[in-house]
Amino acid sequence: MYDTVVIGAGPAGMTAALYAGRSNLKVALLERGIYGGQMNNTAEIENYPGYDHISGPALAEKMFEPLEKFGVDHIFGTLVRIEEDGPIKKIITEDDVLETKTVILAMGAKHRLLGVPGEDTYNSRGVSYCAVCDGAFFRGQKLLVVGGGDSAVEEALFLTQFAESVTIVHRRDQLRAQKVIQDRAFANEKINFIWDSVVEEIKGDDLRVQSVRIKNVKTEEVSELDFGGVFVYVGLDPMTDSVADLGITDEAGWIITNEKMETSKSGIYAIGDIRQNQLRQIATAVGNGAVAGQEVYNYITELAE
Ligand code: FAD
Ligand code: NAP
Repeated sequence: MYDTVVIGAGPAGMTAALYAGRSNLKVALLERGIYGGQMNNTAEIENYPGYDHISGPALAEKMFEPLEKFGVDHIFGTLVRIEEDGPIKKIITEDDVLETKTVILAMGAKHRLLGVPGEDTYNSRGVSYCAVCDGAFFRGQKLLVVGGGDSAVEEALFLTQFAESVTIVHRRDQLRAQKVIQDRAFANEKINFIWDSVVEEIKGDDLRVQSVRIKNVKTEEVSELDFGGVFVYVGLDPMTDSVADLGITDEAGWIITNEKMETSKSGIYAIGDIRQNQLRQIATAVGNGAVAGQEVYNYITELAE
């Protein structure tokens, strides 16, 4: 019987596991992939306090290191559903059942798809969702980045070190990205913009992407431009399928919590990007994790009294 099982080892989950482990609770950290979550998809983090800049995978390793010292059990697996049996929660994975007094949900978010013809056909054959993973395969090519948020603009900047040029296509005429990131993109000679426009179709031959059909949403004009790769950064969807039956999410699937990270279900907490939340960052994920790690300690202490 665990005191708490943390689901997801991104920055939120690793911090919650650290705080709960340091409080001498019996903690399991369940992760279906590699530790670090979305941080693994970025080469350059410069808004996490304490570091001028650090790569995502390096920061993930730093966060993971202390967990062993505090006795956190690492379990590889995917949460399928949670069953409640009185005060006990059963964590059902694909091949295991874990029993616990509390659960901390930290499954984060996943990149959204564009949903246009050709996206699926050319996935991994010119269409990518991770510049850090795939950028180096596109040396000397003309690349298209779709989106206007922090991810699109920051990853476009990253791609300029490999690409001949990077075009950002955005559906409005103003970026959503933070100003400091925008300024860098506007100053970069390799980056150009197509405003007020959306991708209609990604086209290619039997092997790879070759061109993209783009429509201007104001003039309705459609053009077909040559690109060797398309990087899609059009936002995030919550990873809440496995808890959809608990009734703790809003209409879009984000989990609703109070300031203590408590959901409407007693003993079930949610932290980080998976929460209904304005700012989805590593620093906020870590802050949420600290609160939840401490709150499960308070909850379990009260249970014992
Ligand atoms: P995540 O990082 O999404 O981690 C969730 C974890 O849960 C994952 O490891 C996943 O595999 C696991 N999981 C999901 N479902 C299950 C399941 N059913 N069972 C078991 N495990 C599961 N933020 C910054 O502050 N600065 C930056 O510079 C920055 N750059 C970014 C660049 C990119 C390209 C992206 C995509 C994001 C960036 N962010 C940045 C945002 C930041 O990475 C996220 O806000 C942060 O990682 C959220 O942490 P999290 O722990 O809530 O979730
Ligand atoms: P985001 O902020 O939600 O931005 C998504 C972008 O895609 C928006 O510009 C949006 O347009 C556009 N878009 C959405 N659906 C589209 C569609 N179907 N077709 C075309 N365009 C579409 O997502 P994100 O950039 O992935 O960032 C996610 C979170 O991670 C944010 O909280 C962000 O701050 C954080 N992050 C932080 C950093 C950093 O701090 N350095 C880096 C990366 C990510 P509109 O603008 O018109 O809505």
